[in-house]
Amino acid sequence: MSALYGTYARSELAFERGEGVRLFSQDGTPFLDFHSGIAVNALGHGNPHLIGALKAASEKVWHTSNVFTIPEQERLGQRLVDNTFADSVFFTNSGAEALECAIKTARHYFWAKGETDRYEIIAFTGSFHGRTLGTIAAAGNPHYVEGFGPALTGFVHAAPGDLKAVEALITPNTCAILIEPVQGEGGVTAMPVEFMRGLRALCDKHGMLLVLDEVQCGYGRTGKFFAHEWSGIVPDVMAVAKGIGGGFPLGACLAKGEVAKSMVPGTHGSTYGGNPLACAIGNAVLDQVLAPGFFAHVDAMGQRLAWHLQQLQQRFPNYVLELRGKGLLAGIKIAPPVREFVARLRDDHHMLAQGAGENVLRLLPPLIATEADIEEAANKLAAAFEAIEREAVGAKTTA
Ligand code: PLP
Repeated sequence: MSALYGTYARSELAFERGEGVRLFSQDGTPFLDFHSGIAVNALGHGNPHLIGALKAASEKVWHTSNVFTIPEQERLGQRLVDNTFADSVFFTNSGAEALECAIKTARHYFWAKGETDRYEIIAFTGSFHGRTLGTIAAAGNPHYVEGFGPALTGFVHAAPGDLKAVEALITPNTCAILIEPVQGEGGVTAMPVEFMRGLRALCDKHGMLLVLDEVQCGYGRTGKFFAHEWSGIVPDVMAVAKGIGGGFPLGACLAKGEVAKSMVPGTHGSTYGGNPLACAIGNAVLDQVLAPGFFAHVDAMGQRLAWHLQQLQQRFPNYVLELRGKGLLAGIKIAPPVREFVARLRDDHHMLAQGAGENVLRLLPPLIATEADIEEAANKLAAAFEAIEREAVGAKTTA
Protein backbone atom coordinates (compact mmCIF):
# COMPACT_ATOMS: atom_id res chain seq x y z
CA MET A 1 0.00 0.00 0.00
CA SER A 2 1.25 3.47 -0.91
CA ALA A 3 2.44 5.80 1.83
CA LEU A 4 0.85 8.70 -0.03
CA TYR A 5 -2.44 10.48 0.61
CA GLY A 6 -5.19 8.92 -1.41
CA THR A 7 -6.12 12.21 -3.07
CA TYR A 8 -5.56 10.86 -6.58
CA ALA A 9 -7.05 7.83 -8.30
CA ARG A 10 -3.62 7.06 -9.71
CA SER A 11 -2.82 4.72 -12.55
CA GLU A 12 -0.01 2.30 -11.75
CA LEU A 13 1.85 3.47 -14.82
CA ALA A 14 5.15 5.20 -14.04
CA PHE A 15 7.41 6.92 -16.55
CA GLU A 16 11.15 6.89 -16.67
CA ARG A 17 12.08 9.28 -19.43
CA GLY A 18 10.62 11.50 -22.10
CA GLU A 19 11.50 12.79 -25.52
CA GLY A 20 9.46 15.49 -27.22
CA VAL A 21 5.81 14.42 -27.24
CA ARG A 22 6.62 10.92 -26.02
CA LEU A 23 6.96 9.44 -22.55
CA PHE A 24 8.55 6.05 -21.94
CA SER A 25 7.27 3.80 -19.19
CA GLN A 26 9.59 1.83 -16.93
CA ASP A 27 9.48 -1.14 -19.32
CA GLY A 28 10.39 1.12 -22.26
CA THR A 29 6.94 1.36 -23.88
CA PRO A 30 6.44 4.72 -25.66
CA PHE A 31 3.27 6.70 -24.95
CA LEU A 32 2.03 9.59 -27.07
CA ASP A 33 1.67 12.38 -24.55
CA PHE A 34 -1.43 14.48 -25.24
CA HIS A 35 -1.64 15.23 -21.54
CA SER A 36 1.58 17.16 -20.83
CA GLY A 37 1.22 16.72 -17.08
CA ILE A 38 -2.08 18.65 -17.42
CA ALA A 39 -0.86 21.42 -19.73
CA VAL A 40 2.54 21.84 -18.11
CA ASN A 41 5.18 20.37 -20.45
CA ALA A 42 4.60 22.99 -23.10
CA LEU A 43 8.00 22.40 -24.70
CA GLY A 44 7.83 18.62 -24.49
CA HIS A 45 10.05 16.23 -22.57
CA GLY A 46 13.82 16.19 -22.49
CA ASN A 47 14.06 19.61 -24.15
CA PRO A 48 17.83 20.23 -24.62
CA HIS A 49 17.54 24.01 -24.09
CA LEU A 50 15.71 23.54 -20.79
CA ILE A 51 18.08 20.80 -19.65
CA GLY A 52 21.03 23.07 -20.45
CA ALA A 53 19.48 25.92 -18.44
CA LEU A 54 18.75 23.61 -15.51
CA LYS A 55 22.26 22.18 -15.50
CA ALA A 56 23.88 25.61 -15.66
CA ALA A 57 21.59 26.99 -12.92
CA SER A 58 22.21 23.95 -10.70
CA GLU A 59 25.85 24.90 -10.48
CA LYS A 60 25.03 28.39 -9.28
CA VAL A 61 22.88 29.34 -6.27
CA TRP A 62 19.65 27.33 -6.15
CA HIS A 63 17.94 29.47 -3.62
CA THR A 64 18.56 32.70 -1.82
CA SER A 65 15.41 34.47 -0.69
CA ASN A 66 13.24 37.27 -1.91
CA VAL A 67 14.91 39.50 0.65
CA PHE A 68 17.79 39.61 -1.85
CA THR A 69 17.79 40.65 -5.48
CA ILE A 70 17.48 37.63 -7.80
CA PRO A 71 18.84 38.64 -11.22
CA GLU A 72 17.13 35.78 -13.10
CA GLN A 73 13.81 36.78 -11.50
CA GLU A 74 14.29 40.45 -12.42
CA ARG A 75 15.01 39.39 -15.98
CA LEU A 76 12.02 37.05 -16.25
CA GLY A 77 9.74 39.66 -14.71
CA GLN A 78 10.95 42.32 -17.15
CA ARG A 79 10.47 40.01 -20.13
CA LEU A 80 6.91 39.23 -19.05
CA VAL A 81 6.21 42.93 -18.61
CA ASP A 82 7.72 43.70 -22.03
CA ASN A 83 5.46 41.14 -23.70
CA THR A 84 2.13 41.62 -21.90
CA PHE A 85 -0.28 44.25 -20.55
CA ALA A 86 1.43 44.06 -17.14
CA ASP A 87 3.85 46.41 -15.39
CA SER A 88 4.51 44.31 -12.34
CA VAL A 89 4.97 40.59 -11.52
CA PHE A 90 4.92 38.43 -8.38
CA PHE A 91 6.36 34.93 -8.76
CA THR A 92 4.87 31.85 -7.12
CA ASN A 93 5.39 28.08 -7.19
CA SER A 94 1.98 27.08 -8.49
CA GLY A 95 -1.23 28.18 -10.13
CA ALA A 96 -3.26 28.33 -6.94
CA GLU A 97 -0.67 30.61 -5.37
CA ALA A 98 -0.76 32.85 -8.44
CA LEU A 99 -4.55 33.08 -7.98
CA GLU A 100 -4.17 33.82 -4.26
CA CYS A 101 -1.88 36.69 -5.16
CA ALA A 102 -4.32 37.89 -7.84
CA ILE A 103 -7.26 37.86 -5.42
CA LYS A 104 -5.27 39.61 -2.70
CA THR A 105 -4.00 42.20 -5.20
CA ALA A 106 -7.54 43.00 -6.38
CA ARG A 107 -8.95 43.33 -2.88
CA HIS A 108 -6.02 45.26 -1.52
CA TYR A 109 -6.13 47.76 -4.36
CA PHE A 110 -9.55 48.96 -3.24
CA TRP A 111 -8.72 48.69 0.46
CA ALA A 112 -5.70 50.96 -0.03
CA LYS A 113 -7.95 53.49 -1.79
CA GLY A 114 -10.17 53.57 1.28
CA GLU A 115 -12.92 51.48 -0.37
CA THR A 116 -12.66 48.87 2.36
CA ASP A 117 -16.03 47.25 1.67
CA ARG A 118 -15.11 46.50 -1.91
CA TYR A 119 -13.86 42.95 -1.73
CA GLU A 120 -16.49 40.86 -3.48
CA ILE A 121 -15.49 39.02 -6.63
CA ILE A 122 -17.81 37.72 -9.33
CA ALA A 123 -16.57 34.33 -10.54
CA PHE A 124 -18.16 31.62 -12.68
CA THR A 125 -19.80 28.26 -12.34
CA GLY A 126 -17.71 25.49 -13.90
CA SER A 127 -14.48 27.29 -13.13
CA PHE A 128 -11.40 25.88 -11.44
CA HIS A 129 -8.79 28.03 -9.74
CA GLY A 130 -6.86 25.59 -7.55
CA ARG A 131 -7.15 23.72 -4.27
CA THR A 132 -6.27 26.24 -1.58
CA LEU A 133 -9.06 27.39 0.73
CA GLY A 134 -9.20 30.71 -1.15
CA THR A 135 -9.26 29.26 -4.63
CA ILE A 136 -11.89 26.61 -3.89
CA ALA A 137 -14.11 29.36 -2.53
CA ALA A 138 -13.38 31.45 -5.63
CA ALA A 139 -14.46 28.67 -7.98
CA GLY A 140 -17.37 27.74 -5.72
CA ASN A 141 -17.61 24.12 -6.87
CA PRO A 142 -19.53 22.49 -3.98
CA HIS A 143 -17.65 19.18 -4.44
CA TYR A 144 -14.37 20.87 -3.59
CA VAL A 145 -15.66 23.18 -0.86
CA GLU A 146 -17.69 20.67 1.14
CA GLY A 147 -16.13 19.25 4.28
CA PHE A 148 -13.49 21.90 4.81
CA GLY A 149 -15.22 24.20 7.25
CA PRO A 150 -16.56 27.67 6.51
CA ALA A 151 -15.67 28.78 2.99
CA LEU A 152 -13.88 32.07 2.45
CA THR A 153 -16.59 34.64 1.80
CA GLY A 154 -16.67 37.34 -0.83
CA PHE A 155 -17.32 35.32 -3.98
CA VAL A 156 -20.52 35.13 -6.02
CA HIS A 157 -21.03 33.10 -9.15
CA ALA A 158 -22.69 33.57 -12.53
CA ALA A 159 -23.08 31.22 -15.47
CA PRO A 160 -20.33 31.79 -18.04
CA GLY A 161 -21.59 33.55 -21.15
CA ASP A 162 -24.46 35.30 -19.38
CA LEU A 163 -23.53 38.98 -19.28
CA LYS A 164 -26.89 40.02 -17.83
CA ALA A 165 -26.45 37.59 -14.93
CA VAL A 166 -23.03 39.07 -14.26
CA GLU A 167 -24.38 42.61 -14.28
CA ALA A 168 -27.17 41.60 -11.89
CA LEU A 169 -24.56 40.47 -9.35
CA ILE A 170 -22.71 43.78 -9.25
CA THR A 171 -23.13 45.65 -5.96
CA PRO A 172 -21.20 48.49 -4.26
CA ASN A 173 -19.10 45.69 -2.69
CA THR A 174 -17.94 44.22 -5.99
CA CYS A 175 -14.26 44.72 -6.69
CA ALA A 176 -13.53 42.37 -9.58
CA ILE A 177 -14.58 39.77 -12.09
CA LEU A 178 -12.47 36.59 -12.15
CA ILE A 179 -12.60 34.29 -15.16
CA GLU A 180 -10.68 31.68 -17.14
CA PRO A 181 -10.85 32.73 -20.83
CA VAL A 182 -11.01 29.02 -21.58
CA GLN A 183 -12.31 26.90 -18.72
CA GLY A 184 -10.05 23.85 -18.47
CA GLU A 185 -11.08 21.45 -15.70
CA GLY A 186 -14.70 22.51 -15.97
CA GLY A 187 -15.12 21.07 -19.48
CA VAL A 188 -12.83 22.95 -21.92
CA THR A 189 -15.22 25.81 -22.58
CA ALA A 190 -13.84 28.75 -24.55
CA MET A 191 -15.52 32.00 -23.61
CA PRO A 192 -17.00 33.82 -26.61
CA VAL A 193 -15.04 36.88 -27.69
CA GLU A 194 -18.12 39.08 -27.22
CA PHE A 195 -18.55 37.84 -23.66
CA MET A 196 -14.94 38.68 -22.77
CA ARG A 197 -15.38 42.13 -24.29
CA GLY A 198 -18.63 42.55 -22.39
CA LEU A 199 -16.88 41.71 -19.11
CA ARG A 200 -14.17 44.25 -19.84
CA ALA A 201 -16.84 46.87 -20.57
CA LEU A 202 -18.68 46.06 -17.32
CA CYS A 203 -15.44 46.41 -15.36
CA ASP A 204 -14.75 49.76 -17.00
CA LYS A 205 -18.29 50.99 -16.39
CA HIS A 206 -18.30 50.05 -12.71
CA GLY A 207 -14.65 50.75 -11.88
CA MET A 208 -13.97 47.05 -11.21
CA LEU A 209 -10.91 45.00 -12.05
CA LEU A 210 -10.83 42.22 -14.61
CA VAL A 211 -8.80 39.32 -13.21
CA LEU A 212 -7.96 36.47 -15.57
CA ASP A 213 -6.91 32.96 -14.71
CA GLU A 214 -4.65 31.93 -17.58
CA VAL A 215 -2.97 29.15 -15.61
CA GLN A 216 -4.11 26.51 -18.09
CA CYS A 217 -5.03 28.45 -21.24
CA GLY A 218 -2.09 30.87 -21.22
CA TYR A 219 1.52 30.68 -22.31
CA GLY A 220 0.84 29.93 -25.93
CA ARG A 221 -1.62 27.08 -25.52
CA THR A 222 -4.38 28.67 -27.58
CA GLY A 223 -2.06 29.99 -30.30
CA LYS A 224 -1.42 33.40 -28.78
CA PHE A 225 0.81 34.20 -25.81
CA PHE A 226 -2.32 34.63 -23.69
CA ALA A 227 -5.85 33.52 -24.53
CA HIS A 228 -7.42 36.92 -23.81
CA GLU A 229 -5.52 38.32 -26.80
CA TRP A 230 -8.08 36.62 -29.08
CA SER A 231 -10.71 39.04 -27.81
CA GLY A 232 -8.48 42.11 -28.07
CA ILE A 233 -9.03 43.08 -24.44
CA VAL A 234 -6.52 43.41 -21.63
CA PRO A 235 -7.02 42.38 -18.01
CA ASP A 236 -5.91 44.30 -14.92
CA VAL A 237 -4.51 41.25 -13.15
CA MET A 238 -3.66 37.78 -14.47
CA ALA A 239 -2.60 34.49 -12.89
CA VAL A 240 -0.18 32.30 -14.85
CA ALA A 241 1.49 28.94 -14.13
CA LYS A 242 1.84 25.50 -15.77
CA GLY A 243 3.58 26.24 -19.11
CA ILE A 244 5.65 29.06 -17.63
CA GLY A 245 8.05 26.58 -16.02
CA GLY A 246 7.87 23.85 -18.67
CA GLY A 247 7.70 21.27 -15.86
CA PHE A 248 9.52 23.16 -13.12
CA PRO A 249 7.11 24.47 -10.44
CA LEU A 250 6.63 28.14 -11.25
CA GLY A 251 3.73 30.55 -11.41
CA ALA A 252 3.22 34.29 -11.60
CA CYS A 253 0.70 36.99 -10.91
CA LEU A 254 0.89 39.84 -13.42
CA ALA A 255 -0.74 43.19 -12.83
CA LYS A 256 -0.98 46.72 -14.11
CA GLY A 257 1.33 49.01 -12.16
CA GLU A 258 -1.49 51.14 -10.73
CA VAL A 259 -3.19 47.99 -9.40
CA ALA A 260 -0.05 46.37 -7.97
CA LYS A 261 1.27 49.48 -6.29
CA SER A 262 -0.50 48.91 -2.97
CA MET A 263 1.26 45.55 -2.57
CA VAL A 264 4.05 46.98 -0.46
CA PRO A 265 6.44 45.15 1.92
CA GLY A 266 4.48 43.02 4.36
CA THR A 267 1.38 42.54 2.19
CA HIS A 268 2.45 39.30 0.51
CA GLY A 269 5.38 36.93 0.19
CA SER A 270 6.72 33.52 -0.70
CA THR A 271 9.83 31.70 0.47
CA TYR A 272 10.46 29.92 -2.81
CA GLY A 273 8.47 31.92 -5.34
CA GLY A 274 10.73 33.03 -8.19
CA ASN A 275 13.93 31.50 -6.84
CA PRO A 276 17.06 31.48 -9.03
CA LEU A 277 16.62 27.89 -10.22
CA ALA A 278 12.94 28.32 -11.16
CA CYS A 279 13.55 31.62 -12.96
CA ALA A 280 16.54 30.31 -14.91
CA ILE A 281 14.23 27.67 -16.32
CA GLY A 282 11.42 30.19 -16.75
CA ASN A 283 13.76 32.32 -18.86
CA ALA A 284 14.76 29.31 -20.95
CA VAL A 285 11.08 28.46 -21.55
CA LEU A 286 10.44 32.03 -22.60
CA ASP A 287 13.36 31.93 -25.08
CA GLN A 288 11.48 29.28 -27.05
CA VAL A 289 7.93 30.48 -26.47
CA LEU A 290 8.78 33.98 -27.73
CA ALA A 291 10.86 32.72 -30.65
CA PRO A 292 9.48 33.86 -34.02
CA GLY A 293 6.85 31.50 -35.36
CA PHE A 294 6.10 29.70 -32.08
CA PHE A 295 2.54 30.97 -31.64
CA ALA A 296 1.83 30.60 -35.37
CA HIS A 297 2.91 26.95 -35.07
CA VAL A 298 0.55 26.36 -32.13
CA ASP A 299 -2.27 28.07 -34.00
CA ALA A 300 -1.67 25.95 -37.11
CA MET A 301 -1.47 22.74 -35.06
CA GLY A 302 -4.62 23.74 -33.19
CA GLN A 303 -6.45 24.08 -36.49
CA ARG A 304 -5.05 20.77 -37.67
CA LEU A 305 -6.23 19.08 -34.49
CA ALA A 306 -9.67 20.68 -34.83
CA TRP A 307 -9.90 19.38 -38.40
CA HIS A 308 -9.05 15.82 -37.33
CA LEU A 309 -11.56 16.02 -34.50
CA GLN A 310 -14.25 17.16 -36.94
CA GLN A 311 -13.49 14.09 -39.07
CA LEU A 312 -13.84 11.92 -35.99
CA GLN A 313 -17.15 13.56 -35.16
CA GLN A 314 -18.45 12.77 -38.65
CA ARG A 315 -17.24 9.21 -38.41
CA PHE A 316 -18.43 8.51 -34.87
CA PRO A 317 -21.41 10.81 -34.33
CA ASN A 318 -22.75 8.57 -31.57
CA TYR A 319 -19.58 8.89 -29.54
CA VAL A 320 -18.20 12.33 -30.39
CA LEU A 321 -20.96 14.63 -29.21
CA GLU A 322 -19.38 18.08 -29.22
CA LEU A 323 -16.03 19.70 -29.96
CA ARG A 324 -14.74 22.38 -27.64
CA GLY A 325 -11.72 24.46 -26.74
CA LYS A 326 -9.17 26.61 -28.48
CA GLY A 327 -5.82 25.80 -30.08
CA LEU A 328 -4.03 22.97 -28.32
CA LEU A 329 -6.47 23.04 -25.42
CA ALA A 330 -9.02 20.85 -27.13
CA GLY A 331 -12.04 19.11 -25.67
CA ILE A 332 -14.32 16.38 -26.99
CA LYS A 333 -17.58 15.78 -25.20
CA ILE A 334 -17.91 12.02 -25.61
CA ALA A 335 -20.65 9.51 -24.98
CA PRO A 336 -18.59 6.75 -23.31
CA PRO A 337 -17.65 7.50 -19.67
CA VAL A 338 -14.54 9.67 -19.94
CA ARG A 339 -12.65 8.01 -17.10
CA GLU A 340 -12.92 4.64 -18.84
CA PHE A 341 -12.07 6.16 -22.20
CA VAL A 342 -8.90 7.79 -20.82
CA ALA A 343 -7.87 4.40 -19.38
CA ARG A 344 -8.62 2.65 -22.67
CA LEU A 345 -6.56 5.18 -24.64
CA ARG A 346 -3.70 4.77 -22.19
CA ASP A 347 -3.72 0.99 -21.82
CA ASP A 348 -4.75 -0.16 -25.31
CA HIS A 349 -3.48 2.66 -27.53
CA HIS A 350 -0.60 4.09 -25.51
CA MET A 351 -1.87 7.62 -25.67
CA LEU A 352 -2.21 9.95 -22.69
CA ALA A 353 -5.09 12.38 -22.33
CA GLN A 354 -7.06 13.87 -19.46
CA GLY A 355 -10.72 14.02 -18.52
CA ALA A 356 -12.55 17.24 -17.73
CA GLY A 357 -16.02 18.13 -16.43
CA GLU A 358 -19.18 17.25 -18.39
CA ASN A 359 -17.63 14.00 -19.67
CA VAL A 360 -15.14 15.82 -21.82
CA LEU A 361 -11.90 14.30 -23.07
CA ARG A 362 -9.18 16.94 -22.83
CA LEU A 363 -6.30 16.91 -25.30
CA LEU A 364 -3.27 18.92 -24.19
CA PRO A 365 -0.27 18.02 -26.34
CA PRO A 366 3.06 19.76 -25.84
CA LEU A 367 2.99 22.91 -27.95
CA ILE A 368 5.84 21.55 -30.08
CA ALA A 369 3.61 18.75 -31.40
CA THR A 370 3.86 18.33 -35.17
CA GLU A 371 1.26 17.53 -37.79
CA ALA A 372 2.43 13.89 -37.71
CA ASP A 373 1.94 13.72 -33.91
CA ILE A 374 -1.57 15.12 -34.29
CA GLU A 375 -2.41 12.65 -37.02
CA GLU A 376 -1.09 9.83 -34.84
CA ALA A 377 -3.32 11.01 -31.97
CA ALA A 378 -6.33 11.17 -34.29
CA ASN A 379 -5.62 7.61 -35.47
CA LYS A 380 -5.38 6.38 -31.90
CA LEU A 381 -8.65 8.10 -31.00
CA ALA A 382 -10.31 6.56 -34.06
CA ALA A 383 -8.97 3.12 -33.08
CA ALA A 384 -10.38 3.54 -29.57
CA PHE A 385 -13.83 4.54 -30.86
CA GLU A 386 -13.75 1.67 -33.38
CA ALA A 387 -12.99 -0.79 -30.58
CA ILE A 388 -15.94 0.53 -28.57
CA GLU A 389 -18.15 0.21 -31.66
CA ARG A 390 -16.98 -3.38 -32.25
CA GLU A 391 -17.61 -4.28 -28.63
CA ALA A 392 -21.10 -2.78 -28.80
CA VAL A 393 -21.92 -4.79 -31.96
CA GLY A 394 -20.44 -7.92 -30.36
CA ALA A 395 -22.52 -7.43 -27.23
CA LYS A 396 -25.66 -7.05 -29.38
CA THR A 397 -25.06 -10.24 -31.42
CA THR A 398 -24.34 -12.32 -28.32
CA ALA A 399 -27.44 -10.92 -26.56
N1 PLP B 1 -6.28 27.65 -12.43
C1 PLP B 1 -6.51 26.84 -13.46
C2 PLP B 1 -7.28 27.33 -14.64
C3 PLP B 1 -6.02 25.53 -13.45
O1 PLP B 1 -6.25 24.71 -14.49
C4 PLP B 1 -5.28 25.10 -12.33
C5 PLP B 1 -4.77 23.72 -12.26
O2 PLP B 1 -5.18 22.83 -12.96
C6 PLP B 1 -5.06 26.00 -11.28
C7 PLP B 1 -5.57 27.26 -11.38
C8 PLP B 1 -4.29 25.58 -10.08
O3 PLP B 1 -2.94 25.38 -10.40
P1 PLP B 1 -2.01 24.51 -9.43
O4 PLP B 1 -2.50 23.11 -9.48
O5 PLP B 1 -0.63 24.71 -10.02
O6 PLP B 1 -2.12 25.11 -8.08
